[in-house]
Amino acid sequence: MSRKKVLVCGAGGFIGGHLVKRLKEEGAWVRGVDIKEHEFSRSAADEFVIGDLTEQVIVRDVMDMPFDEVYQLAADMGGAGYIFTGENDANVMHNSATINLNVLQQALKTGSNKIFYSSSACIYPAYNQTDPDNPKCSEDSAYPAEPDSDYGWEKLFSERLYLAFGRNHGLDVKIARFHNIFGPEGTWTGGKEKAPAAICRKVAEAPDGGHIEVWGDGKQTRSFLYIDECLEGVSRLMRSDLSGPFNIGSEEMVTLNQLARMAIDISGKKIDIKNISVPHTGVRGRNSDNKLIAEKLHWQPSRSLKEGLVKTYSWIADQVKVKMDRNKEEVLAG
Ligand code: NAD
Repeated sequence: MSRKKVLVCGAGGFIGGHLVKRLKEEGAWVRGVDIKEHEFSRSAADEFVIGDLTEQVIVRDVMDMPFDEVYQLAADMGGAGYIFTGENDANVMHNSATINLNVLQQALKTGSNKIFYSSSACIYPAYNQTDPDNPKCSEDSAYPAEPDSDYGWEKLFSERLYLAFGRNHGLDVKIARFHNIFGPEGTWTGGKEKAPAAICRKVAEAPDGGHIEVWGDGKQTRSFLYIDECLEGVSRLMRSDLSGPFNIGSEEMVTLNQLARMAIDISGKKIDIKNISVPHTGVRGRNSDNKLIAEKLHWQPSRSLKEGLVKTYSWIADQVKVKMDRNKEEVLAG
Protein backbone atom coordinates (compact mmCIF):
# COMPACT_ATOMS: atom_id res chain seq x y z
CA MET A 1 0.00 0.00 0.00
CA SER A 2 1.34 3.46 -0.86
CA ARG A 3 2.03 5.90 1.95
CA LYS A 4 -0.66 8.35 2.98
CA LYS A 5 0.05 11.81 1.50
CA VAL A 6 -0.63 14.63 3.91
CA LEU A 7 -0.47 18.42 3.71
CA VAL A 8 -0.02 20.47 6.90
CA CYS A 9 -0.72 24.19 6.50
CA GLY A 10 0.90 26.14 9.34
CA ALA A 11 3.61 23.47 9.71
CA GLY A 12 6.10 26.08 10.97
CA GLY A 13 3.89 26.85 13.95
CA PHE A 14 3.51 25.31 17.38
CA ILE A 15 0.71 22.78 16.81
CA GLY A 16 1.64 22.24 13.13
CA GLY A 17 5.24 21.39 14.06
CA HIS A 18 4.15 18.76 16.57
CA LEU A 19 1.52 17.42 14.17
CA VAL A 20 4.10 16.89 11.42
CA LYS A 21 6.27 14.90 13.85
CA ARG A 22 3.32 12.71 14.83
CA LEU A 23 2.24 12.11 11.23
CA LYS A 24 5.81 11.14 10.31
CA GLU A 25 5.96 8.71 13.23
CA GLU A 26 2.74 7.18 11.90
CA GLY A 27 4.41 6.62 8.53
CA ALA A 28 2.78 9.34 6.38
CA TRP A 29 4.50 11.31 3.62
CA VAL A 30 4.15 14.93 4.71
CA ARG A 31 4.41 18.26 2.93
CA GLY A 32 4.43 21.21 5.29
CA VAL A 33 3.81 24.82 4.33
CA ASP A 34 4.22 28.01 6.31
CA ILE A 35 5.16 31.63 5.79
CA LYS A 36 8.19 31.00 8.01
CA GLU A 37 10.50 28.20 9.13
CA HIS A 38 9.75 26.47 12.42
CA GLU A 39 11.47 28.58 15.07
CA PHE A 40 12.63 25.88 17.43
CA SER A 41 13.38 22.74 15.46
CA ARG A 42 14.02 21.49 11.96
CA SER A 43 10.74 20.42 10.42
CA ALA A 44 10.25 16.65 10.24
CA ALA A 45 8.28 17.08 7.00
CA ASP A 46 9.44 15.32 3.82
CA GLU A 47 8.99 18.64 2.04
CA PHE A 48 8.74 22.01 3.72
CA VAL A 49 7.58 24.90 1.56
CA ILE A 50 7.93 28.52 2.61
CA GLY A 51 4.94 30.34 1.16
CA ASP A 52 2.16 32.78 1.93
CA LEU A 53 -1.19 30.97 1.82
CA THR A 54 -3.08 34.24 1.35
CA GLU A 55 -1.63 34.13 -2.20
CA GLN A 56 -3.74 31.95 -4.51
CA VAL A 57 -0.77 31.15 -6.72
CA ILE A 58 1.15 29.74 -3.74
CA VAL A 59 -1.83 27.65 -2.67
CA ARG A 60 -2.09 26.26 -6.20
CA ASP A 61 1.61 25.33 -6.09
CA VAL A 62 1.57 23.57 -2.73
CA MET A 63 -1.75 21.84 -3.40
CA ASP A 64 -0.85 20.42 -6.78
CA MET A 65 -2.13 16.89 -6.16
CA PRO A 66 -4.91 15.10 -4.32
CA PHE A 67 -3.77 14.75 -0.71
CA ASP A 68 -5.29 11.99 1.41
CA GLU A 69 -5.51 14.43 4.29
CA VAL A 70 -5.15 18.21 4.63
CA TYR A 71 -4.69 19.88 8.02
CA GLN A 72 -5.40 23.62 7.88
CA LEU A 73 -3.79 25.22 10.95
CA ALA A 74 -2.35 28.38 9.41
CA ALA A 75 -3.78 31.53 10.98
CA ASP A 76 -2.75 35.02 11.93
CA MET A 77 -2.99 34.63 15.69
CA GLY A 78 -1.46 35.22 19.10
CA GLY A 79 -2.35 35.46 22.77
CA ALA A 80 -4.43 38.14 24.52
CA GLY A 81 -1.73 40.75 23.86
CA TYR A 82 -2.22 40.22 20.12
CA ILE A 83 -5.90 39.51 19.53
CA PHE A 84 -7.58 41.79 22.07
CA THR A 85 -5.88 45.15 21.47
CA GLY A 86 -7.91 45.78 18.31
CA GLU A 87 -4.77 46.80 16.45
CA ASN A 88 -4.46 43.53 14.54
CA ASP A 89 -8.14 42.89 13.75
CA ALA A 90 -8.01 43.71 10.03
CA ASN A 91 -4.95 41.51 9.49
CA VAL A 92 -6.32 38.66 11.60
CA MET A 93 -9.65 38.60 9.78
CA HIS A 94 -8.34 39.23 6.29
CA ASN A 95 -5.35 36.90 6.41
CA SER A 96 -6.98 33.96 8.13
CA ALA A 97 -10.21 34.12 6.11
CA THR A 98 -8.25 34.40 2.85
CA ILE A 99 -6.14 31.35 3.74
CA ASN A 100 -9.27 29.31 4.46
CA LEU A 101 -11.01 30.42 1.25
CA ASN A 102 -7.93 29.61 -0.84
CA VAL A 103 -7.21 26.25 0.76
CA LEU A 104 -10.79 25.01 0.55
CA GLN A 105 -11.18 26.02 -3.08
CA GLN A 106 -7.95 24.28 -4.04
CA ALA A 107 -8.82 21.18 -1.98
CA LEU A 108 -12.00 20.93 -4.02
CA LYS A 109 -10.19 21.41 -7.33
CA THR A 110 -7.55 18.77 -6.59
CA GLY A 111 -9.85 16.22 -4.98
CA SER A 112 -8.19 16.54 -1.57
CA ASN A 113 -11.36 15.39 0.04
CA LYS A 114 -10.55 15.05 3.73
CA ILE A 115 -9.72 18.29 5.47
CA PHE A 116 -9.20 19.25 9.11
CA TYR A 117 -9.80 22.80 10.33
CA SER A 118 -8.59 24.19 13.66
CA SER A 119 -11.23 26.47 15.10
CA SER A 120 -11.05 27.89 18.60
CA ALA A 121 -12.83 28.23 21.93
CA CYS A 122 -12.76 31.95 21.09
CA ILE A 123 -15.91 31.42 18.99
CA TYR A 124 -18.06 31.00 22.12
CA PRO A 125 -20.34 33.90 23.07
CA ALA A 126 -19.00 36.36 25.61
CA TYR A 127 -22.38 36.40 27.42
CA ASN A 128 -21.88 32.77 28.52
CA GLN A 129 -18.45 33.45 29.98
CA THR A 130 -19.04 36.19 32.52
CA ASP A 131 -19.04 33.95 35.61
CA PRO A 132 -15.51 32.64 36.23
CA ASP A 133 -16.85 29.66 38.18
CA ASN A 134 -19.47 28.62 35.68
CA PRO A 135 -18.64 29.34 32.02
CA LYS A 136 -20.66 27.59 29.33
CA CYS A 137 -18.80 26.29 26.28
CA SER A 138 -20.78 23.29 25.08
CA GLU A 139 -20.67 22.91 21.30
CA ASP A 140 -24.37 23.74 20.94
CA SER A 141 -23.97 27.08 22.77
CA ALA A 142 -22.11 28.84 19.91
CA TYR A 143 -25.27 30.64 18.71
CA PRO A 144 -26.59 33.32 18.99
CA ALA A 145 -23.01 34.28 18.26
CA GLU A 146 -21.11 36.91 20.20
CA PRO A 147 -17.38 36.09 20.26
CA ASP A 148 -15.35 38.63 22.23
CA SER A 149 -12.75 39.15 19.47
CA ASP A 150 -12.57 39.44 15.70
CA TYR A 151 -10.25 36.45 15.84
CA GLY A 152 -13.25 34.48 17.19
CA TRP A 153 -15.60 35.89 14.55
CA GLU A 154 -13.24 34.83 11.75
CA LYS A 155 -13.01 31.33 13.22
CA LEU A 156 -16.80 31.12 13.35
CA PHE A 157 -17.12 32.33 9.76
CA SER A 158 -14.54 29.78 8.63
CA GLU A 159 -16.25 26.95 10.54
CA ARG A 160 -19.37 27.77 8.53
CA LEU A 161 -17.34 27.93 5.33
CA TYR A 162 -15.92 24.42 5.92
CA LEU A 163 -19.34 23.03 6.84
CA ALA A 164 -20.85 24.60 3.70
CA PHE A 165 -18.15 23.00 1.51
CA GLY A 166 -18.95 19.73 3.24
CA ARG A 167 -22.68 20.06 2.58
CA ASN A 168 -22.57 21.47 -0.93
CA HIS A 169 -19.43 19.87 -2.38
CA GLY A 170 -19.13 16.63 -0.43
CA LEU A 171 -15.80 17.43 1.25
CA ASP A 172 -15.16 15.34 4.37
CA VAL A 173 -14.53 18.22 6.79
CA LYS A 174 -13.43 17.81 10.40
CA ILE A 175 -13.56 20.75 12.79
CA ALA A 176 -12.07 21.05 16.27
CA ARG A 177 -12.42 23.97 18.64
CA PHE A 178 -9.08 24.03 20.46
CA HIS A 179 -9.00 25.36 24.03
CA ASN A 180 -5.59 26.84 25.01
CA ILE A 181 -3.13 24.27 23.75
CA PHE A 182 0.33 24.48 25.31
CA GLY A 183 3.64 22.66 25.41
CA PRO A 184 7.30 22.89 24.41
CA GLU A 185 8.31 24.47 21.10
CA GLY A 186 5.61 27.13 21.16
CA THR A 187 5.97 30.92 21.08
CA TRP A 188 7.22 31.96 24.53
CA THR A 189 8.23 35.59 24.03
CA GLY A 190 7.71 38.55 21.68
CA GLY A 191 4.03 39.42 22.28
CA LYS A 192 2.25 36.52 20.51
CA GLU A 193 2.78 34.04 23.37
CA LYS A 194 -0.20 32.75 25.34
CA ALA A 195 -0.73 32.60 29.10
CA PRO A 196 1.02 29.31 30.04
CA ALA A 197 4.15 30.20 28.03
CA ALA A 198 4.16 33.83 29.25
CA ILE A 199 3.83 32.75 32.87
CA CYS A 200 6.53 30.06 32.57
CA ARG A 201 8.87 32.65 30.99
CA LYS A 202 8.24 35.20 33.73
CA VAL A 203 8.85 32.58 36.43
CA ALA A 204 12.03 31.35 34.72
CA GLU A 205 13.33 34.93 34.39
CA ALA A 206 12.45 36.00 37.95
CA PRO A 207 15.12 35.80 40.63
CA ASP A 208 14.49 33.71 43.74
CA GLY A 209 12.65 36.01 46.17
CA GLY A 210 11.33 38.20 43.33
CA HIS A 211 7.87 38.60 41.84
CA ILE A 212 6.05 38.10 38.55
CA GLU A 213 3.24 40.11 37.02
CA VAL A 214 0.00 38.34 36.12
CA TRP A 215 -2.51 40.19 33.95
CA GLY A 216 -5.82 41.23 35.51
CA ASP A 217 -6.97 40.27 39.00
CA GLY A 218 -5.79 36.69 38.37
CA LYS A 219 -9.23 35.32 39.20
CA GLN A 220 -10.21 34.81 35.56
CA THR A 221 -10.48 31.09 34.80
CA ARG A 222 -9.25 28.98 31.89
CA SER A 223 -8.33 25.40 31.08
CA PHE A 224 -5.17 24.34 29.26
CA LEU A 225 -4.52 21.25 27.19
CA TYR A 226 -1.12 19.68 26.63
CA ILE A 227 -0.13 19.32 22.98
CA ASP A 228 0.08 15.48 22.95
CA GLU A 229 -3.53 15.16 24.07
CA CYS A 230 -4.62 17.75 21.51
CA LEU A 231 -3.03 15.68 18.72
CA GLU A 232 -4.64 12.50 20.04
CA GLY A 233 -8.03 14.22 19.80
CA VAL A 234 -7.32 15.41 16.25
CA SER A 235 -6.22 11.93 15.22
CA ARG A 236 -9.37 10.33 16.67
CA LEU A 237 -11.57 12.91 14.94
CA MET A 238 -9.81 12.25 11.61
CA ARG A 239 -10.34 8.50 11.98
CA SER A 240 -14.03 8.94 12.79
CA ASP A 241 -16.89 9.49 10.37
CA LEU A 242 -17.90 12.66 12.22
CA SER A 243 -17.40 16.31 11.26
CA GLY A 244 -17.86 18.23 14.52
CA PRO A 245 -17.27 20.91 15.56
CA PHE A 246 -15.89 19.28 18.72
CA ASN A 247 -14.20 20.89 21.69
CA ILE A 248 -10.66 19.64 22.10
CA GLY A 249 -9.68 20.96 25.50
CA SER A 250 -9.22 20.14 29.14
CA GLU A 251 -11.94 20.38 31.78
CA GLU A 252 -9.39 21.11 34.54
CA MET A 253 -10.31 24.76 35.07
CA VAL A 254 -7.93 26.97 37.08
CA THR A 255 -7.60 30.68 37.79
CA LEU A 256 -4.67 32.47 36.17
CA ASN A 257 -3.16 32.94 39.63
CA GLN A 258 -3.46 29.18 40.27
CA LEU A 259 -1.68 28.55 36.98
CA ALA A 260 1.06 30.98 38.01
CA ARG A 261 1.33 29.36 41.46
CA MET A 262 1.70 25.94 39.82
CA ALA A 263 4.54 27.20 37.59
CA ILE A 264 6.23 28.84 40.59
CA ASP A 265 6.03 25.60 42.59
CA ILE A 266 7.52 23.68 39.65
CA SER A 267 10.44 26.15 39.52
CA GLY A 268 11.20 25.58 43.20
CA LYS A 269 11.75 29.34 43.64
CA LYS A 270 10.09 31.68 46.12
CA ILE A 271 8.20 34.14 43.94
CA ASP A 272 5.27 36.48 44.66
CA ILE A 273 2.44 37.18 42.26
CA LYS A 274 1.61 40.79 41.50
CA ASN A 275 -1.66 41.27 39.62
CA ILE A 276 -1.56 44.20 37.24
CA SER A 277 -4.35 45.99 35.47
CA VAL A 278 -4.28 45.70 31.67
CA PRO A 279 -6.92 46.88 29.18
CA HIS A 280 -7.84 43.41 27.88
CA THR A 281 -7.74 40.01 29.52
CA GLY A 282 -10.53 38.29 27.57
CA VAL A 283 -13.62 36.67 29.08
CA ARG A 284 -13.90 36.10 32.86
CA GLY A 285 -14.24 32.35 32.62
CA ARG A 286 -13.71 29.65 30.01
CA ASN A 287 -13.56 25.88 30.27
CA SER A 288 -13.87 23.04 27.80
CA ASP A 289 -17.06 21.00 27.90
CA ASN A 290 -16.18 17.43 26.94
CA LYS A 291 -19.58 15.77 27.09
CA LEU A 292 -20.06 15.65 23.33
CA ILE A 293 -16.59 14.38 22.46
CA ALA A 294 -16.79 11.72 25.18
CA GLU A 295 -20.16 10.58 23.89
CA LYS A 296 -19.35 10.61 20.17
CA LEU A 297 -15.63 9.80 20.04
CA HIS A 298 -15.56 7.73 23.24
CA TRP A 299 -12.50 9.66 24.34
CA GLN A 300 -11.57 12.82 26.20
CA PRO A 301 -8.32 14.29 27.49
CA SER A 302 -7.44 12.99 30.92
CA ARG A 303 -3.89 14.03 31.84
CA SER A 304 -3.30 16.67 34.52
CA LEU A 305 -2.33 20.28 33.84
CA LYS A 306 0.62 19.85 36.22
CA GLU A 307 2.07 17.03 34.11
CA GLY A 308 2.13 19.18 30.96
CA LEU A 309 3.30 22.27 32.80
CA VAL A 310 6.36 20.47 34.22
CA LYS A 311 7.50 19.65 30.66
CA THR A 312 6.67 23.11 29.33
CA TYR A 313 8.38 24.94 32.19
CA SER A 314 11.51 22.88 31.74
CA TRP A 315 11.67 23.70 28.00
CA ILE A 316 11.02 27.43 28.51
CA ALA A 317 13.52 27.65 31.39
CA ASP A 318 16.15 26.22 29.00
CA GLN A 319 15.26 28.86 26.37
CA VAL A 320 15.50 31.63 28.96
CA LYS A 321 18.90 30.36 30.13
CA VAL A 322 20.27 30.27 26.58
CA LYS A 323 19.04 33.82 26.00
CA MET A 324 20.48 35.12 29.27
CA ASP A 325 23.86 33.45 28.60
CA ARG A 326 23.93 35.00 25.13
CA ASN A 327 23.13 38.45 26.55
CA LYS A 328 25.96 38.08 29.09
CA GLU A 329 28.42 37.10 26.36
CA GLU A 330 27.39 40.13 24.29
CA VAL A 331 27.90 42.45 27.27
CA LEU A 332 31.34 40.93 27.97
CA ALA A 333 32.30 41.24 24.31
CA GLY A 334 31.36 44.95 24.55
P1 NAD B 1 1.01 29.31 15.52
O1 NAD B 1 0.91 30.79 15.38
O2 NAD B 1 2.22 28.75 16.19
O3 NAD B 1 0.82 28.61 14.12
C1 NAD B 1 0.14 29.19 13.05
C2 NAD B 1 1.09 29.18 11.87
O4 NAD B 1 0.41 29.74 10.73
C3 NAD B 1 2.34 30.04 12.10
O5 NAD B 1 3.52 29.26 11.98
C4 NAD B 1 2.25 31.08 11.03
O6 NAD B 1 3.51 31.49 10.48
C5 NAD B 1 1.38 30.39 9.98
N1 NAD B 1 0.81 31.38 9.07
C6 NAD B 1 0.21 32.55 9.40
N2 NAD B 1 -0.12 33.22 8.29
C7 NAD B 1 0.28 32.46 7.24
C8 NAD B 1 0.22 32.62 5.84
N3 NAD B 1 -0.31 33.72 5.30
N4 NAD B 1 0.72 31.65 5.06
C9 NAD B 1 1.30 30.54 5.60
N5 NAD B 1 1.38 30.33 6.92
C10 NAD B 1 0.88 31.28 7.73
O7 NAD B 1 -0.31 28.85 16.30
P2 NAD B 1 -0.72 27.44 16.89
O8 NAD B 1 -0.85 27.62 18.35
O9 NAD B 1 0.14 26.36 16.35
O10 NAD B 1 -2.19 27.31 16.29
C11 NAD B 1 -2.49 26.51 15.14
C12 NAD B 1 -3.97 26.70 14.81
O11 NAD B 1 -4.78 26.32 15.93
C13 NAD B 1 -4.35 28.12 14.46
O12 NAD B 1 -5.31 28.10 13.43
C14 NAD B 1 -5.00 28.64 15.73
O13 NAD B 1 -5.92 29.66 15.48
C15 NAD B 1 -5.66 27.38 16.26
N6 NAD B 1 -5.86 27.43 17.72
C16 NAD B 1 -4.78 27.36 18.54
C17 NAD B 1 -4.98 27.42 19.92
C18 NAD B 1 -3.83 27.33 20.88
O14 NAD B 1 -4.08 27.37 22.09
N7 NAD B 1 -2.59 27.20 20.44
C19 NAD B 1 -6.27 27.57 20.43
C20 NAD B 1 -7.34 27.65 19.54
C21 NAD B 1 -7.13 27.56 18.19
